[in-house]
Amino acid sequence: MSITGIKGMNDILPSDVATWQFLEETARNIFGTYGCREIRVPVVEKTELFCRSIGETTDIVEKEMYTFNDKSSHSLTLRPEGTAPVMRAFIQHKLYNLNPVSKLYYMGPMFRYERPQKGRYRQFHQIGAEILGEDDPRIDAQVLAMLSHYFDAVGIDDVSLQINSLGCTECRPQYRQALVEFLQQRLEQLCPDCQRRYTSNPLRVLDCKSKSCKEATVDAPSVLDHLCDGCDSHFDAVQNYLNMLGTTYSINNRMVRGLDYYTKTTFEMVTNNLGAQNAVAAGGRYDGLVEELGGPALPGIGFAMGVERLVLLLGENGVKTPTPKLFLATMGEEAEKLAFTLLHQLQRHGIQSEMDFSGKSLKAQLRRANKLECAYTLFLGENELADGNAQLKRMADGEQTTIALDGIFTGLCSLLDDEATTSL
Ligand code: ATP
Ligand code: MG
Repeated sequence: MSITGIKGMNDILPSDVATWQFLEETARNIFGTYGCREIRVPVVEKTELFCRSIGETTDIVEKEMYTFNDKSSHSLTLRPEGTAPVMRAFIQHKLYNLNPVSKLYYMGPMFRYERPQKGRYRQFHQIGAEILGEDDPRIDAQVLAMLSHYFDAVGIDDVSLQINSLGCTECRPQYRQALVEFLQQRLEQLCPDCQRRYTSNPLRVLDCKSKSCKEATVDAPSVLDHLCDGCDSHFDAVQNYLNMLGTTYSINNRMVRGLDYYTKTTFEMVTNNLGAQNAVAAGGRYDGLVEELGGPALPGIGFAMGVERLVLLLGENGVKTPTPKLFLATMGEEAEKLAFTLLHQLQRHGIQSEMDFSGKSLKAQLRRANKLECAYTLFLGENELADGNAQLKRMADGEQTTIALDGIFTGLCSLLDDEATTSL
């Protein structure tokens, strides 16, 4: 039996890759415009990094990590998210010495042992950004504006931005206490997971997808009523700045995030088009994380987008794989020789071209040109060589143009160049 891939870990096939490249390229362009620079970190880190940053009682650390011992018995983990590794690198390389504000972005695979379903996989991809060193609410607004800009640029408009504040180490414990007291009265209504979370991580109960938990927490106290003055005015300011920038959002005071490091502003880009997997991007401020991981006390804010979910949302509006511009159909050895060098010249010039190397009949070559969806076919046979002219056929409507063999490369370029995508 042949060996298959691992459940929940997908191949991204050539027919889909153009869409992926478009999503990645747009992120590079847009995040670059806002001053973010790419950082590339390993996919494996010491397990401790994730336990300490994401939090021991989160779903990710409790249930979802791919953790293993290497041959030296070191506990390693395939990264379930990008923020912790980026923080680790930021601290290790003292990037804070280079610039008071570091703006970074990353993209790549993440790994979580979850139940695979549409939009939820065991290897998935994130594109994320992190801004470190500044806690001005204008930074929060800029990050959210950049995220919205990205969705506009890739043409995904059936999403909406939701924001919330989770407070800080000063005010969150009080909210947590108020929530625990509220949940205490309704313990029997909670699902088994939430009965456990009630003591370990009560805020997560608000995020539970089960119907009974949702019903039990309809009247739960709002975190926004428990913010300290600092967090309250920060959240107000973020909203004012978003209004100034014309970035649309709504407030969702039940939004808690699955990672413990968030403080103050948190947000999600949500959609109604992906079933239960409604978050396409998520993030927030994490003002204590850098220090918690052994770095200086620097604030930070960031987000990650799930690329598979972006691809699903683009659907039919994804990017088509580029098809060849030209097929060189040949008959006879001399024509093949001429076509072979011409093919090379055209490819170096940036015109995607194909020819047959297996001696197929003209009919079979044409079939292949059609299958490849070549825009043009050039016919080169013994007659054409003798005649000094070749026929170029536009496949869409069959229109034929005669091209002189003398200077054929230049002739073809001038005809096809306006549509060529790349050049030397
Ligand atoms: P969810 O509520 O869907 O489990 P999450 O809160 O665990 O998401 P984050 O850790 O904030 O997600 O990750 C940010 C984004 O990464 C999500 O909004 C989603 O688009 C994507 N994502 C997270 N987990 C997966 C997964 N297993 N498969 C595919 N995409 C994922
Ligand atoms: Mg999750």
